[in-house]
Amino acid sequence: MEPQFLVSALGPRGGPFEDSCTCFLIKAYSEAWDDGCLAALDAGSLLSGLRNGLLLQLLPNDPLAQLLKRGMSKASPIRIDENMIADSALPFKMDSSPTRALYDNCIHIVRHLIKSFCITHAHLDHISALALCSPIFIPHSPKRVYSSQHSIDLLQKHIFNDSIWPDLTTSGTGLISLHEIDSTSYIPIANGLEAIAFPLSHGNVLSLGFLVRNSSSDTYALFLGDMEADSISKKDYNSSLWKHVSPLIHANKLRALFMECSYPDERPSDCLFGHLTPTYAIQELLSLRPFGVFHAREDGREWRNYTRGPH
Ligand SMILES: [Zn+2]
Repeated sequence: MEPQFLVSALGPRGGPFEDSCTCFLIKAYSEAWDDGCLAALDAGSLLSGLRNGLLLQLLPNDPLAQLLKRGMSKASPIRIDENMIADSALPFKMDSSPTRALYDNCIHIVRHLIKSFCITHAHLDHISALALCSPIFIPHSPKRVYSSQHSIDLLQKHIFNDSIWPDLTTSGTGLISLHEIDSTSYIPIANGLEAIAFPLSHGNVLSLGFLVRNSSSDTYALFLGDMEADSISKKDYNSSLWKHVSPLIHANKLRALFMECSYPDERPSDCLFGHLTPTYAIQELLSLRPFGVFHAREDGREWRNYTRGPH
């Protein structure tokens, strides 16, 4: 099966380390490493995530790279892909000043390769890089940011309000432009990639799931933001989403699913703050059963294993 997407986890977490908050880069696999070839899914740790990844790729013997490698092998739930960025995408070579080249390459990737940011929701661990990395954004060439109108309003009112942070939007300095995305029509987010978005319940805020389409191969990757189970939210957001994607699974077009699972099963259900446990994540995936996505084994073991409720 031909690869269709290249995804790099710059940060898979919600803290407490500031340099591993949620940010994934996605690229259509067969697209060239040209300007606009990447989209960022959330913007928790952007430059620091890139620095860590490029350090491993370009300076693997650097003491910090060694430290990162040791930490990843023990603690990180997702390894940073050591070949995340192709050599051809890096204009600044490492010959004379490796440290300078490392940072210049990080800045080049953000400024030129990343075409847009797709923000699932406005919690800090998903948006902090939009503010903190903004000094390197290009003036008069706003970086496009896609999210729900709910999150756009929160960003405008509480972050880019000239109090917490300068107004970077087109009503202010114009370093970013905010655009609503929904499930009605695909929007280009990077070269060869387009996306729609579905609502997800996440405690008292609205989150999004992005269905990213490789437009040349008509294959898909589903990236779900922070979310809770329908059985907790008492909404039908997730079941509507599963109903939409089940034909893609049947057609073998859904090639990847990214789904959060923040807490262990031991966590009480009233302290999940809009997140999933393994049991709830499995419960959600099993709700694809009515659409015929799973084929039960004859002994039914897989169903029985997943029926234990959280404590
Ligand atoms: Zn959140």
